[in-house]
Amino acid sequence: EVKQHGRNAWRAYEERLEAGAHRRLQLETHLAGALERGEFSVHYQPIVDLVSGRTRSLEALLRWSSPELGTVSPAEFVPVLEQRSLIVKVGAWVLREALRRVGEWHAAGHDVTVSVNVSSLQFQHGDFVELVRCALRDTGVSGSALVLELTESALIADADEGNATLCALRTLGARVSLDDFGTGYSSLSYLHRLSVDKLKIDKSFVQILPGDCAFMEVIMRLTSHLRLECVAEGVESEAQRETLLQLGCPFGQGFLFSRPLPADMILAFLDDIRIPPRGN
Ligand code: C2E
Ligand code: MG
Ligand code: MG
Ligand code: MG
Repeated sequence: EVKQHGRNAWRAYEERLEAGAHRRLQLETHLAGALERGEFSVHYQPIVDLVSGRTRSLEALLRWSSPELGTVSPAEFVPVLEQRSLIVKVGAWVLREALRRVGEWHAAGHDVTVSVNVSSLQFQHGDFVELVRCALRDTGVSGSALVLELTESALIADADEGNATLCALRTLGARVSLDDFGTGYSSLSYLHRLSVDKLKIDKSFVQILPGDCAFMEVIMRLTSHLRLECVAEGVESEAQRETLLQLGCPFGQGFLFSRPLPADMILAFLDDIRIPPRGN
């Protein structure tokens, strides 16, 4: 009886493993050449000033629409791109695409920046700074319009080398934001050694608001001490927005303000004067 049960459990485990491996192989197969076939696009999600409701920046988020697999979440396919080093090429494309768009928004009179996610692999790739420099030059966009979002793993891998790269990026005028803050090692001792400009607080800390403010309070005290600008990710309700304001968090991003939108919808969104919903 026990033996039979054990055998069934093992069987179920094997099947799950097989399904996972099969899915992965499927993704790998269809991701090869996806860039050349034009299957990727970039959506943009507003990062807003929580007081005025004005859009400050737009985060570029990669989208993949495969003819065979349909729409696949980046949470699923970005790790596959990373494993196959394809992220270096795709990431470079996202960067150029995002800079081209922010140039258009500037031309239309909007004072916004664009935030681009950079995977560890890209960041550690020898010529990342050169890549950014060329992309800025070719698109004619000022470095100050660019924010690079990095995760702790990228910066922790080699803190000294990482800091040198960060300094070089800063001389181009670009700023750096630590993404998903609170989910990595978050060794506080080393947060002050990393020369980042902003922190994006992971949505897991935001979505427990307004009920549980303890973590957010600590994070806000820390960031004000380190003089880091904070962005709260995953703001979904008015109550969360108000709590963040009370705790002193100036910027937010989330479905409350807008979902990520296709590039051609952004101008209409920015033209629309955003009057923040008032809680009275
Ligand atoms: P991320 O950089 O932390 O991006 C924020 C994610 O939160 C996005 O998921 C966004 O759609 C989602 N989000 C925004 N507001 C809300 C909200 O109110 N509630 C909830 N539940 N979610 C919200 P998305 O677009 O699926 O991207 C997932 C992750 O994939 C990103 O997390 C990032 O790590 C990675 N990624 C996306 N685009 C790129 C890229 O171009 N390059 C690299 N290297 N990674 C990327
Ligand atoms: Mg991000
Ligand atoms: Mg994030
Ligand atoms: Mg995230």
